[in-house]
Amino acid sequence: PPLFDMHPVKTLFKIPRNPPPTLLHPDKWCRGFNHFISQCLIKDFENRPSVTHLLEHPFIKQAHGKDMSLQKQLADLIQAQQQLGSITKTRYCAIHCSVVTIIHQLQKRYADLQIYTYVGDILIALNPFQNLNIYSPQFSKLYHGVKRSSNPPHIFASADAAYQGMVTFSKDQCIIISGESGAGKTESAHLIVQHLTFLGKANNRALREKILQVNPLVEAFGNACTAINDNSSRFGKYLEMMFTPTGAVMGAKISEYLLEKSRVIKQAVGEKNFHIFYYIYAGLFHQKKLSEYRLPEKKPPRYIDNETGRVMQDIITKDSYRQQFEAIQHCFRIIGFTDEEVHSVYRILAGILNTGNIEFAAISSQHQTDKSEVPNPEALDNAAALLSIGSEELQEALTSHCVVTRGETIVRTNTVDKAADVRDAMSKALYGRLFSWIVNRINTLLQPDKNICGMNVGILDIFGFENFTRNSFEQLCINIANEQIQFYFNQHIFALEQMEYQNEGIDATTVVYEDNRPLLDMFLQKPMGLLSLLDEESRFPQATDLTLVDKFEDNLRYKYFWRPKGVELCFGIQHYAGKVLYDAYGFLEKNRDTLPADIVVVLRTSENKLLQQLFSSPLTKTGISLHSFATFRASSPEVYISSPFHSLKFSHERVLVQLRYTGILETVKIRQKGYSHRILFEEFVKRYYYLAFKVHETPLGSRENCIAILEKSKLDNWILGKTKVFLKYYHIEQLNLFLREV
Ligand code: ATP
Ligand code: MG
Repeated sequence: PPLFDMHPVKTLFKIPRNPPPTLLHPDKWCRGFNHFISQCLIKDFENRPSVTHLLEHPFIKQAHGKDMSLQKQLADLIQAQQQLGSITKTRYCAIHCSVVTIIHQLQKRYADLQIYTYVGDILIALNPFQNLNIYSPQFSKLYHGVKRSSNPPHIFASADAAYQGMVTFSKDQCIIISGESGAGKTESAHLIVQHLTFLGKANNRALREKILQVNPLVEAFGNACTAINDNSSRFGKYLEMMFTPTGAVMGAKISEYLLEKSRVIKQAVGEKNFHIFYYIYAGLFHQKKLSEYRLPEKKPPRYIDNETGRVMQDIITKDSYRQQFEAIQHCFRIIGFTDEEVHSVYRILAGILNTGNIEFAAISSQHQTDKSEVPNPEALDNAAALLSIGSEELQEALTSHCVVTRGETIVRTNTVDKAADVRDAMSKALYGRLFSWIVNRINTLLQPDKNICGMNVGILDIFGFENFTRNSFEQLCINIANEQIQFYFNQHIFALEQMEYQNEGIDATTVVYEDNRPLLDMFLQKPMGLLSLLDEESRFPQATDLTLVDKFEDNLRYKYFWRPKGVELCFGIQHYAGKVLYDAYGFLEKNRDTLPADIVVVLRTSENKLLQQLFSSPLTKTGISLHSFATFRASSPEVYISSPFHSLKFSHERVLVQLRYTGILETVKIRQKGYSHRILFEEFVKRYYYLAFKVHETPLGSRENCIAILEKSKLDNWILGKTKVFLKYYHIEQLNLFLREV
């Protein structure tokens, strides 16, 4: 049964006696609107759910008297929102009454440091921002192959459920972790891996050790310090742990999505580059090897020194960086990278840092004003040496490019800005490919024996839904990925409900949910979906971001898409989690994600075997590796969601936003519409027989006796299945109330 009941709405809501003040100021109208409407709707849900009724609501009348224009505005707004599907009355009511109950419960539990709570088969985790003593081997033992209800909610229980599901039904499992930055997704992913390695105890201790090193290694390259989280994942990760048919760990595989490569060349104020750069700098500094890697001791390279002076001081004084460097070396070794490979990785990283220091200056002669040269050749030489390529060839590739016209190859010079762009594109490509190579290498080293037909538990740790003041290509990709997750999520919850009803022989048509399939079609359909249109437009050399938005507008005839008036490069999408306005500036460039052929040619001449390998494959577009995400299939997912809090302060608004973005509210709605409590006949009679029988009687746990109890209690809307009584969330409360009276 659910951990807590959904209380009837009214007792939970204290509607203010006076109308909310925001309503009295038309300029603040919109802000107050949602809050206000939801309150009205909730209060009057059962009695008068229509818009007309809403307009007659005493609050509205009191607020606006006979001012029909305001009332009209209100009606228009509601209608507009209803058309968009974002506010249907039932949805609002269901969502808001659930929110209050859930938030209330979460807050109460959080105050006692109970950070885990179940809602159906979802686990909500709140970030405790302190080390809790609940992850020791004793706890691992506690959550080993037992019923979920035997222990308090815990992340190990979710891992255990997935493991048991896999072994019992021989079916792959999937755990989806979602939530905003800093919520604790990555920590949770570690804990799941920790528990799964415990459960899947193989005799092969070396393999277990290897698997435990995977996350720290990948995160050194893919995580960075941001304004929100000191260890923020800047890529999406799907880790599959593979098991033998009897449940022993036998290997692992990672897939990475959408690495934020732009961080290599630039970071926002107060943010840092990927951890690994600081780790190696500190490590090499303490090993007195900086000069070997041509890294200066006084002034760190531009790519990692956005707060002048501070970085070097940190590198010298912060022990943690050095320790992390040692930890990373340990990871490399344990997983099985050769010394030569690790050495090559460091050289490429140092090469990237030196590349960032290459400057360009304009040569202005009478004839050529757009030519550039490198005024600091030592940076160029350093970069070239570390990348094992010719210095002149590198300069050539940065400051000029070849164009083929009518079968003839012509060399054109690059302006200073263009040369700097090429330099940065090269650094990003180097880092992106190096990262992918590390991931692939890990996969090779942890590959299970191909002869064993195993099963896996997948753990998805990916950015949650994002809606900022300015939303760009990255947000669109992330949000489409989340739309995908939501789809599987709905399927899962829905399918489970459906299955339970079918097993019990109950007509299942009552369960409906908001299907985001049409929205997904709008994104993914070929050839006319948004992503296909984007790819197509990216192939036209003359296309601009504006022609792209025009193309969207002409082709995407969906109610989820619109183009606001007056802002050319803007378009809006009604996602399941809410409306998002996107700024299409830079979309084409980011989607193309190309590297000039001249650079590729030079890098392929490298004497560094690893580097050669990085650029030997045909150019793949990494920017939209999301396409591969679109094909991601999660079978029978065990779902787990987390939500953040800061320093034990409970922010209702932030919790609410995340409950909505992670789809928990939808789930609750599905459960509310259905029957949240399913109790076996026997259990039901045992619990409630006093309501229809004498205390000393011991009635049989039969169908008839259940009916007798339910009829005596004068409840309606319940259903009987073949073995279970199906009750609504409020029935249990009423039954318990009667029990107390008896
Ligand atoms: P992002 O989206 O930025 O990657 P995230 O959701 O992965 O964020 P984490 O990096 O997992 O967030 O968590 C942020 C920090 O919160 C951790 O570094 C850790 O200090 C703390 N934290 C999270 N979960 C726990 C936990 N269960 N126990 C103790 N501390 C935790
Ligand atoms: Mg993370």
